[in-house]
Amino acid sequence: MDLQTAELKINELRSLLNQYGYEYYVLDKPSVPDAEYDRLMQELLELEANFPELKTPDSPSVRIGGDVLDLFEKVEHRTPMLSLGNAFNEQDLKDFDRRVRQAVGDNVSYVCELKIDGLAVSLRYENGLFIQGATRGDGTIGEDITANLKTIKSIPLRLRENATLEVRGEAYMPKRSFEALNKAKEERGEELAANPRNAAAGSLRQLDPKIAATRNLDVFLYGIGGGVVNAASHSEGLDYLDHLGFKTNKERRKCPTINEVIEYVNSWVDKRPHLPYEIDGIVIKVDSYEHQSKLGTTAKSPRWAIAYKFPAEEVVTTLLDIELSVGRTGVVTPTAILKPVKVAGTTVGRASLHNEDLIREKDIKIGDQVVVKKAGDIIPEVVNVLAEQRTGDERDFQMPTHCPECESELVRFEGEVALRCINPKCPAQIREGLIHFVSRDAMNIEGLGEKVIGQLFAEKLISDVADIYKLTYDQLIALERMGVKSVTNLLKAIEASKTNSLEKLLFGLGIRHVGAKAAKTLAQSFDTMDKLAVATKEDLVAINEIGDKMADSIVAFFEQEEAKELLRELVSVGVNMEYKGVKPVSVEESNSIFAGKTVVLTGKLEQLSRNEAKEKIEALGGNVSGSVSKKTHLVIAGEDAGSKLTKAEELGIEVWDEEKLLVELNK
Ligand code: NAD
Repeated sequence: MDLQTAELKINELRSLLNQYGYEYYVLDKPSVPDAEYDRLMQELLELEANFPELKTPDSPSVRIGGDVLDLFEKVEHRTPMLSLGNAFNEQDLKDFDRRVRQAVGDNVSYVCELKIDGLAVSLRYENGLFIQGATRGDGTIGEDITANLKTIKSIPLRLRENATLEVRGEAYMPKRSFEALNKAKEERGEELAANPRNAAAGSLRQLDPKIAATRNLDVFLYGIGGGVVNAASHSEGLDYLDHLGFKTNKERRKCPTINEVIEYVNSWVDKRPHLPYEIDGIVIKVDSYEHQSKLGTTAKSPRWAIAYKFPAEEVVTTLLDIELSVGRTGVVTPTAILKPVKVAGTTVGRASLHNEDLIREKDIKIGDQVVVKKAGDIIPEVVNVLAEQRTGDERDFQMPTHCPECESELVRFEGEVALRCINPKCPAQIREGLIHFVSRDAMNIEGLGEKVIGQLFAEKLISDVADIYKLTYDQLIALERMGVKSVTNLLKAIEASKTNSLEKLLFGLGIRHVGAKAAKTLAQSFDTMDKLAVATKEDLVAINEIGDKMADSIVAFFEQEEAKELLRELVSVGVNMEYKGVKPVSVEESNSIFAGKTVVLTGKLEQLSRNEAKEKIEALGGNVSGSVSKKTHLVIAGEDAGSKLTKAEELGIEVWDEEKLLVELNK
């Protein structure tokens, strides 16, 4: 590979990894499996090793964790909270052992620990008293989450001795708490938490400690980050933590040789699913503190430790049947019904097959032995079929020609893979539409989840979204598993939703092609439902972000008699039809220096988060972009700004520091 191709590839990898890192660390909402993130990171590391001239100080390969949220006070760690180098196979572990021996000699021994899949926390004790707890943040500065950590019962508020020290550990959500949380979310029709790690991180970054208190989190302490410690090695340090009253993980083992380490690692592959908490690997640490300090650390991770990552788990089971379901937009989706099997800790009995083409591509037949995994350890997926295990009894699957719910003929639009039911009265579509209407980004009616809607619909108590506002106490209390309290809360939530700003209602109506973001743009542009309802295609496409297809669909929606009637009914029950949020200033209206300018933010800002800065600039008519090019007007460079700053300087683009940005924003 030549330098130029390498640079392109490196830039592409960095931008993907930055995006995934942001979703994972800051939003606690990963969009890709960890294995995919790790694969991209390995690729980046290899390229950077082969082309050292392309290394930059802001590359995700040298960054620890994510941005620090401004919601919390900042805490500077006394010693940095580092990340860990990764090992993916036995050879990586042997290479690690070789590097260690080269540095400290053969008289080395290791401690193996489970790598708990939660988030790192640092706890400070003074004279035996718990005084502050923080997240890892970017390794140097974390967030003060003391109040939330105090809700974890295994964190001692007072130690058994008056010690002054900083301890490090992993806060996590036990599998049972995670399942309970997601069950409750499902019943409320809320988006599910992706995995216990992100659920734990999300819980500890709540502003209200009462929420963290309901999440049943726990903690394992695994290290000491400073203070006077009566120990000469990591294993003694952990014993000392036990002695002080901390909870440490008892599965740890001292291993004098790397072969014993490998044995320990392998022994956990089968035992892992039986643990009451998630682990994503094994951490191997050099035991002696003296050896540790001889080995030292890189900017990102200690040289005396490594994390072995388990491969994504795959299991084989039988595909018993293929079931069909009809979604809100009429799309018919086939789902594999599997012989229940444990994958990565939970029992899997269903996996979406998405569409007919995928079934053909993977050559899936009913009765097949199939390999199943959880994408991102979350969503069950049929990876492939074991065709060589066929007995001849397997059956081909045919997509139906008619809707499984209302029996009207299915159609396949040109250019689409999906088969659709286009009967607007199809009960399945109506039911799914109701579920969409109450969901979080739409009207956000808590307590009205999929199950309750299903019951109300089956009992014919609701047939369109306006009926939701006519529900009575007596009707609701008669439903299964509904008590006085839940009915009262539900009625309150329904009432409260009437005051939602227009965009929530617009999104909730489920107009084709109108997502949550477009709904907001429309609400901001038209202010009221009445004005939007009479907008022409020309009016609509004049708005940035609204294309032909969406405009056609909006016009068609408001032309329907049924839609007009539904809106009249919603008005009569008191649902708000106006936009209530703030409006962004247009370029023409803004007399700000940012109006119409393309701005790039780089480096670490101290006073504002990147997101806040972005919002403020956009509110003044500016446009914030992720990369520097000739089209960039202005670069805001925070601390440790790297390649973007260099590029801006090369291109002669104006560069400001944060102070100047603040002055201009406040003008
Ligand atoms: P890491 O998870 O590889 O390892 C470091 C962390 O391990 C420590 O901070 C600590 O929290 C934890 N840990 C658990 N048990 C431990 C023990 N016994 N001793 C010491 N540490 C222990 O590093 P990282 O920087 O936190 O995260 C990188 C990983 O996060 C990636 O490898 C990837 O799997 C995941 N990630 C995923 C995405 C995504 O989009 N899916 C994005 C970013 C990161």
